[in-house]
Amino acid sequence: ERPVQPKATGDDEIIDRAIRPKRLADYTGQKHVVEQLSIYIEAARGRSDALDHVLIFGPPGLGKTTLANIIANEMGVGIKTTSGPVLEKAGDLAALLTNLEPHDVLFIDEIHRLSPVVEEVLYPALEDYQLDIMIGEGPAARSIKLDLPPFTLVGATTRAGALTSPLRDRFGIVQRLEFYSIPELTSIVQRSAGFLEMDLVPEGAQEVAMRSRGTPRIANRLLRRVRDYAQVKSSGPITAEIASAALDMIDVDKAGFDYMDRKLLKAIIEKFMGGPVGLENLAAAIGEEKDTIEDVLEPYLIQQGYVQRTPRGRIATNHAYNHFGLTKTEK
Ligand code: ADP
Repeated sequence: ERPVQPKATGDDEIIDRAIRPKRLADYTGQKHVVEQLSIYIEAARGRSDALDHVLIFGPPGLGKTTLANIIANEMGVGIKTTSGPVLEKAGDLAALLTNLEPHDVLFIDEIHRLSPVVEEVLYPALEDYQLDIMIGEGPAARSIKLDLPPFTLVGATTRAGALTSPLRDRFGIVQRLEFYSIPELTSIVQRSAGFLEMDLVPEGAQEVAMRSRGTPRIANRLLRRVRDYAQVKSSGPITAEIASAALDMIDVDKAGFDYMDRKLLKAIIEKFMGGPVGLENLAAAIGEEKDTIEDVLEPYLIQQGYVQRTPRGRIATNHAYNHFGLTKTEK
């Protein structure tokens, strides 16, 4: 298990319940998203309408699920949560839709992984609040139509490009989440440290923030590792030195990279002479799934300028060479 894995682990979920922000005002960063959503929510509430369907995209751990819950909270409505791969049959979606109260939020995580049959049922539901499905089989099969209450679909995806265009077109509000800055992450860490009753100095919070790859979920997880370390190894306030020692111990370096990131960067540098190297070859070289590289490993490395994606493949930049104390020689 990677300490900097941006997807939730069981351990995360318990703690999430306590520290997940519940209101827009507590949602740190993502200024444009918060600004726009607060207007749309206020407007919808003012008209006593359901909020338009919302698509949220961005890498894992940046706050998509949190935002979906906040939307429901701010609208003063209920939320039902599911995910693309869980909805196998048209009936699975129908069961959820028919259980919604007026204006409720239906949150579908990983919405790019909906099956085509389920997507077909979703279209009329989104457009006209109509459920249109076949029940039974063979000669006894018949189609039934039902009116649904007005509701809001909140869809989350790590890849906007993987959505079919008819589905994408049905979202009135599309928001993209960005990696968080160090000051934003520092304040998230400080807030969480408060919930965890930790005596963490601001520099200690910053040390955690700097190694969190722009991702609140990772920040909160690293913070818990710091808490464990400090509890056993020190007493009194948790300083930057203590935080740093705790994170060194679990092998998360100053850039927030763990062995997987270093393995990927080193593969490009050493096995492919800096690149360009295609995704397929890179995946084989480090023994990872292509999807994991694209969804989990690469986004932050690209955003931080360690890796460049070119039409001919991935390239390790100067920045990547410098990370290992190497210098890139022009070919
Ligand atoms: P995603 O659905 O994008 O994978 P989550 O919404 O589950 O991410 O967020 C992961 C964790 O990070 C949450 O438990 C929450 O505590 C924290 N978090 C996410 N976004 C924010 C934010 N803007 N402010 C404070 N904490 C956040």
